[in-house]
Amino acid sequence: MRLIRFGAPGAEKPGLIDQDGTFRDVSAFRHDFDSLFLGGTGLQDLQDWFAKNKANCPEVPATERLGPPVCGVSKIVCVGLNYAKHAAESGMDVPTEPVLFFKATSAICGPNDPVIIPKNSEKTDWEVELAVVIGKEAHYVSEAEAMNHVAGYMVHNDYSERAFQLEQGGQWVKGKSCDTFAPLGPALVTRDEIPDPHNLRLWLQVNDEMMQDSNTSDLVFQIPYLIHYISQYMRLQPGDIISTGTPFGVGLGLTPPRYLKAGDVVVLGIAGVGECQQKAVAYSKS
Ligand code: ZN
Repeated sequence: MRLIRFGAPGAEKPGLIDQDGTFRDVSAFRHDFDSLFLGGTGLQDLQDWFAKNKANCPEVPATERLGPPVCGVSKIVCVGLNYAKHAAESGMDVPTEPVLFFKATSAICGPNDPVIIPKNSEKTDWEVELAVVIGKEAHYVSEAEAMNHVAGYMVHNDYSERAFQLEQGGQWVKGKSCDTFAPLGPALVTRDEIPDPHNLRLWLQVNDEMMQDSNTSDLVFQIPYLIHYISQYMRLQPGDIISTGTPFGVGLGLTPPRYLKAGDVVVLGIAGVGECQQKAVAYSKS
């Protein structure tokens, strides 16, 4: 299944993308796609319910705004330097253990919402990433068991303000957590739809110019190991997101570096998972 949430920010309703590509409102089944839904039998129940009730699910216009496909996310755990060529362009070694950092959940927004260049930012950068959504609590799980804890996948643009992240001391979290720095979607694609998450092309364009074009086959640490590893240090809860890292081709790695300015359009996608786009806008007090 391909789960979406649609409507105004903060007032989204749950929906599905049907086999024929139409968006359907499934709010008659469930008020929202939250942790309780994902952690229980929600996905299977929804599939069964939809098969019987599809005809009564209103069609949602394709022009409707999409929100992030899940709500109530308790944490976003990001993996840094998880593609070898990206580590090199960042001037860092390929890590021998996963590099973990958090991203504030307040950065989450819809997949096609504008990205706000933060106040005093000069170095807002892009990072296409495959995001894994946890579907079952994970604490001290083995690598062999890890995939049973996955609900599905989304596209994530791990927007990063490089000065905040790298030049102002402390942890990376400051450069990763600005409002709108975590667009997610367009859909939560359930695990059964992606037989091999380690062979997916992922790409990103800025103003029609291809900047990143790689494949998840190049991940340094693969998804089962990441879930196993992270679960040694924290309890992963349904709805939690693991962002698996970005490949080569970020603005920081260019000579000279290139960063986003208001008006730029970023389009990104992952094969089988979906595509989305964000237009960069300047910060304004609202
Ligand atoms: Zn990243």
